[in-house]
Amino acid sequence: MSKRPFTLVTLLGIRPDIIRLHKLLHLLDEGQRRHGYRHFYVHSGQHFDDELSGVFHRELGVRSPDVNLRVGQTLRRRGRTDSVRQSALLFERTAAMLDRLRPDAVLYLGDTNTVLSSLVVAKRNVPVIHVEGGGRSFDWRMPEEKNRIAIDHLADLIYCYLGRYREILLAEGVDERRVVVAGNIIVDALERFLPAAKNSPVLERLGLESARYALCTLHREENIESAEILARKLEGIRDLSATLPVVFPLMPRVRACLRRYRLEGILKGSAVTVTRPLGFLEFLKLEQSARLIVTDSGTVQEEACLLGIPCLVTRRSTERPETIAAGATLLAEHDLCRHALRLLRWERSWDRAVLNPMGGSPSERIYRDLIARIRSNFFERSRAFAWGEANRFVREAHGIFDRLPESACRLAGSVPRAGAATPLPCES
Ligand code: UDP
Repeated sequence: MSKRPFTLVTLLGIRPDIIRLHKLLHLLDEGQRRHGYRHFYVHSGQHFDDELSGVFHRELGVRSPDVNLRVGQTLRRRGRTDSVRQSALLFERTAAMLDRLRPDAVLYLGDTNTVLSSLVVAKRNVPVIHVEGGGRSFDWRMPEEKNRIAIDHLADLIYCYLGRYREILLAEGVDERRVVVAGNIIVDALERFLPAAKNSPVLERLGLESARYALCTLHREENIESAEILARKLEGIRDLSATLPVVFPLMPRVRACLRRYRLEGILKGSAVTVTRPLGFLEFLKLEQSARLIVTDSGTVQEEACLLGIPCLVTRRSTERPETIAAGATLLAEHDLCRHALRLLRWERSWDRAVLNPMGGSPSERIYRDLIARIRSNFFERSRAFAWGEANRFVREAHGIFDRLPESACRLAGSVPRAGAATPLPCES
């Protein structure tokens, strides 16, 4: 009987996943026949509106998913969209997907709620692959921080953007054989889509002049879930618009918060243009032509760095401090307007290669590494005892002690040997 080909599932769920993974998805599709594996693209449905999902598939030439778990659509229909119900449904549908596709590994990106389904995958003893591993904001209040830590410790293989993320993982005790530094895949998205974005007529459509406006996005829980904090951020944006017009694309969830807290009035009469979420090409054009960017998005922070646009990250902390170190980002939780105005005098000569110091295409690097691992049966070994053997705690859990515990010696009537592994009485 011929062996079933290695089956890989890529499971993603939100807007930036499609942007970041567009190239890797394509490479993984293309390589199937040549390398003898199968690749399925599964979408969780966490983002499902056309403006957060459909438009990105169309504009970025990403094919439709083979399977859509439709988690977001189902919850909206049921009128219950809280994160506990979201996880419950995601887990249930991920399990059904595993039954149907029987993958040999599941690949995830980032720190979204979708990556939490890696728990269901790992519990089935199906290897988990995590792209964007090792990011830590060291802010335990962030929902994403829990997601990152959970998936990194469930993963058999982790692709990090930079060496610092590898160091973080090793400091947390992750085996270095599970960790690969590949560069930041957002570089591939900008390289591919900037030429098309340059032709976007979005500036004319919104009545903006190049380098004469600020671009702003907000959607993190720390900024939008408290009426008081959200009001302060909106006041900062309004005040900034007195010096520089602001474009402010709003996510549906943020719009709902504005309505719930009755904060819409804050921006009335100001030079803030509120829009619906934009397609990637329009947004990229807006980023590239902005005088400055204010955001709480990790991806926008990186894009600003790559595009040479000064960026205020209006958050308590960031899991991507490399853009601060480069001199591209100012991190400040309070006083949005005052800090944004500081960016008008910002030196723009930072090294734009900080996100991909090795050069080349990070997606191609991940693809080549992954294929080599599939071919060398990496995933059959990645949870073997031999991998942990060098670790004292792993050895002890398997009954192998460098120094036999007193109690066991008494039972065995033997003298402990220092240094060398001593078999327990049950072994001899
Ligand atoms: N983006 C977009 N349209 C918008 C706002 C953002 O295409 O109206 C893109 C942006 O260029 C970036 C990504 O969406 O690539 C960022 O998504 P988001 O801020 O939702 O995610 P995060 O990076 O915070 O996870």
